[in-house]
Amino acid sequence: MFEALMIRQANGETTTRLEQLDPASLPQGDVTVAVAQSSLNYKDALAMTRGAPVVRHFPMIPGIDLAGRVLHSDDPVFRPGDQVLATGWGLGEKHWGGLAGMARLPGRWLLPHPAGLSGRQVMGIGTAGFTAMLCVMALEEGGLTPASGPIIVSGAGGGVGGMAVMLLAQLGYQVVAVTGRAQLQAYLTSLGAAGVLPREALAPTGKPLEKARWAGGIDVVGGEVLATMCASVTHGGTVAACGLAGGMTLPLTVAPFILRNVRLQGIDSVMCPRPRRMTAWARLARDIDPTRLDSMLHDAALAEVPDIAPRLLAGHIRGRTVVHLD
Ligand code: NDP
Repeated sequence: MFEALMIRQANGETTTRLEQLDPASLPQGDVTVAVAQSSLNYKDALAMTRGAPVVRHFPMIPGIDLAGRVLHSDDPVFRPGDQVLATGWGLGEKHWGGLAGMARLPGRWLLPHPAGLSGRQVMGIGTAGFTAMLCVMALEEGGLTPASGPIIVSGAGGGVGGMAVMLLAQLGYQVVAVTGRAQLQAYLTSLGAAGVLPREALAPTGKPLEKARWAGGIDVVGGEVLATMCASVTHGGTVAACGLAGGMTLPLTVAPFILRNVRLQGIDSVMCPRPRRMTAWARLARDIDPTRLDSMLHDAALAEVPDIAPRLLAGHIRGRTVVHLD
């Protein structure tokens, strides 16, 4: 038997509870993994508190991230004992996820554990760090270098935003972090932010173009924050958009695109192809500062996760939460 968080829906109500499960109940897949660590992402918190639309069918084990050891494999690439990780691909949405002691999934979703990182570090990075790296790669592909000018990052107190600040600073960029929590100033500076701005700095003024201030941006918030970011990027700049913590809409004109040649690059980590995942994880293993990463991490037991989820959605959790299963 193994422990799992299970999201159930009955009479229109979503509940998430700890349950004991028989391994025979695991879904189909060619690799069975003893999960050692998972993590708590915004999407996991949405799944646990609201169910749909993140959860496509019930009952569902949440957890878009997992790291652990292969127990059984029908995939020739993996053998029992191999250390592996998986993020996305519908884990915790369509396929039972990582917030459980065991998982069974297709081998093509698994990556080998990156050399030089502990299981706690790998899940501390998790989807958030992986997505932040995809955003950094998008800025680079847009032609940005540290010499281009400052980069603005929204939602910096959270997982993706904090990882983006840390990675950009490590790569030599001048990073300006935007947060709704003034008390995080010292923490964000310690992650490498050269400056910290309040959320109001990205409040809309109603103008199609704002003063051009940033060479690029990484946005996890969406809505007016993303719109203002696009409108305040300098000529030829790139904005990578990956989140909706502030909303799904985008109240924007075409002015930044046709007058400043701005590039808006969407980022999806879930269906990211395997070769690009390998590239991003190799870079994470190389570019992460272990001390700064450690300062972002909190540890939690599986039973604590349902209580943490609403606090994460309310924007009260700093950095990343690693969930320990072993
Ligand atoms: P976190 O909850 O860890 O961080 C989100 C941060 O956004 C908060 O800490 C807060 O930062 C800020 N924020 C929250 N609500 C608002 C608001 N209403 N207005 C402005 N800022 C707000 O979440 P994650 O970092 O895990 O995820 C961030 C977003 O990115 C989510 O929308 C998530 O779904 C998305 N995401 C997308 C991925 C993809 O593949 N496209 C992958 C991973 C995440 P502060 O207090 O510092 O302002």
